[in-house]
Amino acid sequence: MKTVAVDTPRQILKTVFGYDRFRGQQQDIIDCLLAGQDALVLMPTGGGKSLCYQIPALLRDGVGIVVSPLIALMQDQVSALLQVGVKAAFLNSTLTLEQTRRIEQQLLQNELDLLYIAPERLNTARMLALLAQLKVALFAIDEAHCVSQWGHDFRADYLQLSILHEQFPQIPRIALTATADDKTRQEIIQRLNLVDAKIFRSSFDRPNIRYRIVQKQNARQQLLDFILSEHEDDAGIVYCLSRKKVESVADWLCSKGIEALPYHAGMSNELRQRNQHQFLMREGVVIVATIAFGMGIDKPNVRFVAHLDLPKSIEAYYQETGRAGRDGLPANAWMAYGLQDVITLRRMLQEAGTDELHKRIEYHKLDAMLALCEQVHCRRQALLNYFGDVLDKPCGNCDTCLEPVYTWNASLAAQQALSCIYRTGQRYGATHLIDVLLGHKTERVLKYGHDHVSTFWYWYGV
Ligand code: ADP
Ligand code: ZN
Repeated sequence: MKTVAVDTPRQILKTVFGYDRFRGQQQDIIDCLLAGQDALVLMPTGGGKSLCYQIPALLRDGVGIVVSPLIALMQDQVSALLQVGVKAAFLNSTLTLEQTRRIEQQLLQNELDLLYIAPERLNTARMLALLAQLKVALFAIDEAHCVSQWGHDFRADYLQLSILHEQFPQIPRIALTATADDKTRQEIIQRLNLVDAKIFRSSFDRPNIRYRIVQKQNARQQLLDFILSEHEDDAGIVYCLSRKKVESVADWLCSKGIEALPYHAGMSNELRQRNQHQFLMREGVVIVATIAFGMGIDKPNVRFVAHLDLPKSIEAYYQETGRAGRDGLPANAWMAYGLQDVITLRRMLQEAGTDELHKRIEYHKLDAMLALCEQVHCRRQALLNYFGDVLDKPCGNCDTCLEPVYTWNASLAAQQALSCIYRTGQRYGATHLIDVLLGHKTERVLKYGHDHVSTFWYWYGV
């Protein structure tokens, strides 16, 4: 009897992708899918999620269907796969009708190993009917946190993906995300009906990334100093909150001799594509972007990610900084923040048309982000703790570890400050209160007789 040589995951890893060994839990995740079981994978950005479904899709009979929310991501992944000889294609709104038909034909003839598809396309009756005629190896739901209504990337189309389980109960599903807080995880399990899925949770630590958060003084200049002293000729991403700021920071960096290109949703598609391409293909390009940039960008040697504005949550901060150092070599996550950022973000939240409950959650996330900025102990411990990971010892590779923050026991000062507020009738602003506490005989202090309250010139007594 002739035996057919069946490849092992390890062989595919080597022959198709050119890697010698699996990273972290990749092998276990692949085995789980090969055994026909569902999996939920929580792994940080850059951890190597794609291979977890690509390899089983190659090994199992039929086509692997990958649901992915971003067109740029699909295109990148498919071209990378085609390059290594994997028969992959994508279906999304950029294709002509003719191209779409051709891919449908390939599917029907069982000619594809992997199909990337936008969720809104998958949810159509036409697509579901087509899938029912095919042999499907597995369903991969990438960026699965998009199903979370309280998360930062909610997409309504993701909610309907529970239909996959109803219509195709035999086919293993794998949901993947880099967002791992408890609430999001529970939501993914519940909404995608993954109660029986095996959960794979990798450590979220990215030890090669050095986290630094500084107070804003002249943020642009601080950024320039940072780039010139540590990252001349390196590829990096600078995040700003507004389109206007993206443009002005990019211009300014260029005027200082740094090759910086803007990227934001207000630019033409063509120009955006061109700038992204430059960033991916050439060395030493800095991209200045709003958060519209980056999801699915796979450039392994991004040496730094800088924030000139506070991200609105730790999840967002972690995902954005996670784009640095995917190659495992030393990289920097640098941020300048100021209290004005918090005020701006709060106002944006206030003005957003979301309901009260949602707003409360967003405020809470912003507060957690702020707490990370004001952290005086190891920043990495605080970050990981937020995601439910425990790091036993301070990391030694963040700003607070490298240069411990000067702290002092402020109990007495805080008591005096509160007392001063109380004694002056709880109606004055911070500047005036500080004048009273410091014993400044300003016109206002004298006018209100605040030079006679007991906390006047309290510092004198310390
Ligand atoms: P994620 O989707 O989790 O952000 P990717 O799947 O894009 O991560 O992988 C990140 C990078 O790591 C890619 O450049 C990928 O080729 C590489 N990679 C993944 N698995 C391995 C491995 N086992 N050995 C070496 N490199 C790997
Ligand atoms: Zn540390």
